[in-house]
Amino acid sequence: MKAVERISEVRQEVRAARAAGRRVGLVPTMGALHEGHASLLRAARADGRLAVVSLFVNPTQFGPNEDFGRYPRPVERDLDLCRREGADLVFAPSAAEMYPPGFATTIRVARLSEKMCGALRPGHFDGVCTVVAKLLAIVQPDAAYFGEKDAQQLAIVRRMAADLDLVVEIRGCPTVREPDGLAMSSRNVYLSPAERQRALALSAALAVAREDVLAGERDAGKLATQVRRRLEAAEGVDVQYVAVVDPDTLDDLARVEDKVLVAVAAKVGATRLIDNVLLRGLN
Ligand code: AMP
Repeated sequence: MKAVERISEVRQEVRAARAAGRRVGLVPTMGALHEGHASLLRAARADGRLAVVSLFVNPTQFGPNEDFGRYPRPVERDLDLCRREGADLVFAPSAAEMYPPGFATTIRVARLSEKMCGALRPGHFDGVCTVVAKLLAIVQPDAAYFGEKDAQQLAIVRRMAADLDLVVEIRGCPTVREPDGLAMSSRNVYLSPAERQRALALSAALAVAREDVLAGERDAGKLATQVRRRLEAAEGVDVQYVAVVDPDTLDDLARVEDKVLVAVAAKVGATRLIDNVLLRGLN
């Protein structure tokens, strides 16, 4: 495994791999890697691709009062995980490498970026889209792997790739959970043991919604109300939103038809958590 910090080095490595007939897969991350990230890397490897992992805590997707400064950066551990999971190339650029003086471009996916998390974190998805577009331009992968854990991000990145005619396959991968149901997240380290316990309300409420849909519930309003009730009944869980939407357009649904995304955001203590259940191929 090679680890590089410069854009020119990534290009050189990727060019050499392509010349040797390899296809390329990109796994964009902010580091503080866990099993969720590892699953994306394994998907890239299972597709037989040169597995490129980017580690970059992207400053432009954090709001002024968010956790950019204290976001975990266990670089050595991250490199160990990448090595163990068979990554071929790690790209860990500095902010100056990604945003040199004079940098002036922002990519914004209208509408989809304004809903749900976007309404609570203005500008967040503009930062995400801009950095993802840059990473796609730098690595030029055949496929890029994203987690369904961040379902809104996945929908927005798919929209961006389609709108900009990017020649890349955007692959969504299932959410990896702790044995008790908590969705894995780099931010889970912020939770105290008591908060960690309270946080289970999110996955528990969503698991019930999933069962309800699979049992035939098609009234989106009812699903939303039930998820919200369960979250509000949990101690120390401050609900930010419950959304029952089309997973591709993120438009609110009145009725569930062939697909649905039930997504929640809540604060548990000072930590903001998101989780969702995504169902396709219903009927
Ligand atoms: P992050 O480092 O949090 O920006 O996440 C990098 C990528 O890993 C994103 O595509 C996330 O959706 C994905 N990811 C994060 N947590 C999980 C999880 N629990 N299961 C699957 N993918 C995840």
